[in-house]
Amino acid sequence: MRHDESRALYDRALSVLAGGVNSSVRATKPYPFFVERGDGAHVIDADGNRYIDYVMGYGPLLYGHDAPDPVQAAVQKHAAAGPMYGAPTEIEVEHAEFVARHVPSVEMIRFVNSGTEATVSAVRLARGVTGRDKIVIMQGGYHGAQESTLVEGGPDDAHPSTAGIPSSFADHTIPVPFNDTEAIHEVFEEYGDDIAAVMAEPILANMGIVHPVEGYLQTLRDVTEEYGSLLIFDEVITGFRVGGLQCAQGKFGVTPDITTFGKIIGGGFPVGAIGGKAELIEQFTPSGNVFQSGTFSGHPVAMAAGHEYLKYAAENDVYDHVDRLGEKLRTGISDILEDQAPEYTVVGSDSMFKTVFTRHGTSDRSDACKNGCVQDESCGNFGACPKTGADVASAETDRWERVFWQEMKDQGVFLTANQFESQFVSYAHTDEDIEETLEAYKEAL
Ligand code: PMP
Repeated sequence: MRHDESRALYDRALSVLAGGVNSSVRATKPYPFFVERGDGAHVIDADGNRYIDYVMGYGPLLYGHDAPDPVQAAVQKHAAAGPMYGAPTEIEVEHAEFVARHVPSVEMIRFVNSGTEATVSAVRLARGVTGRDKIVIMQGGYHGAQESTLVEGGPDDAHPSTAGIPSSFADHTIPVPFNDTEAIHEVFEEYGDDIAAVMAEPILANMGIVHPVEGYLQTLRDVTEEYGSLLIFDEVITGFRVGGLQCAQGKFGVTPDITTFGKIIGGGFPVGAIGGKAELIEQFTPSGNVFQSGTFSGHPVAMAAGHEYLKYAAENDVYDHVDRLGEKLRTGISDILEDQAPEYTVVGSDSMFKTVFTRHGTSDRSDACKNGCVQDESCGNFGACPKTGADVASAETDRWERVFWQEMKDQGVFLTANQFESQFVSYAHTDEDIEETLEAYKEAL
């Protein structure tokens, strides 16, 4: 494959964009390919190379790069008619009504412009409503580029995970291991009356895809209720991806107080949202006293795209298709691993998947899923599911990024370059794409 154009563009970018990119994950080594355009489940780079795309914009593109006609028509109509006003529009109300009708926890919603903005606002809301400062987060979870959650360590040695965040922020954040019931109870016994909220992705999707073990999410629900804290599910990735229109909370049957959304809810345009019980969401200004505001919030183009996206999914076989192909991929990769790399693990569910270059727990493949995972056999894990962020921390990240990811790219398959970030199947993917991808896995592994 030739990459001369991408290489030249990257050279130009390096002089005017920090690291040559606008989001750090895009700076793949030795230099990223620059995308010229998308085509269904594929992207075509500046040198004309074509890749089967499983990055899918890091999650928003449920339909791949060809949105259904009603989505395209609505986007064009709203872009041409405005595109935005600084005054409310009907499409914001329609989109809010649709989400409230389908997602169990949502009665009322506030739209913002990114997942980060949603989680920042959710944390502020929880603190404002409870009058408490502390936030419990999951080790290995990710909630965007925000001060209160870019914190790592344990309950007793929490510290910022990046330069630029005062350590005093970490005084209010308590990271605990995901799926560890004992740890969450201990933290609540010690700090319960000061904890505003527990914030968790229902499935850790930024740490190699870690599923909740049976009962864990319910434990979070119970313990927060007992201590008067709020439960926030960060469904920026899982929202309208896992569990269809009911999201992961519907799939697992646990209803949080507050849900944060992003990605799919904006149909490929910048978006975020904070939903929940009316009595909570109403505490945002102007009806309440927790300040929240944004020039672009509820942007008509993003609202129209998101609304048509979800409506189309409600009326067509979208989730059946992406979930079936997701399972086909996971099972296929799992078979290849069994043969060629038994020390690695396939993770994921619905239309999410990843191969982590490590293996945890039982390696007895006949002991399928007897260790408490809520997934069934179809996840392809065969009982070796990682249970905490730490379980995948030993993964061969360098081998994944420097060798495997490159090899897959050279074979025309675009995966997320970070060992821990999920990959996504879209409605545009076909059985042939999956078969071609499995051939590439076979070769690369
Ligand atoms: N929460 C989760 C679970 C995410 O995965 C992400 C981004 N991948 C965010 C929040 C932040 O979203 P954004 O990048 O839109 O700010």
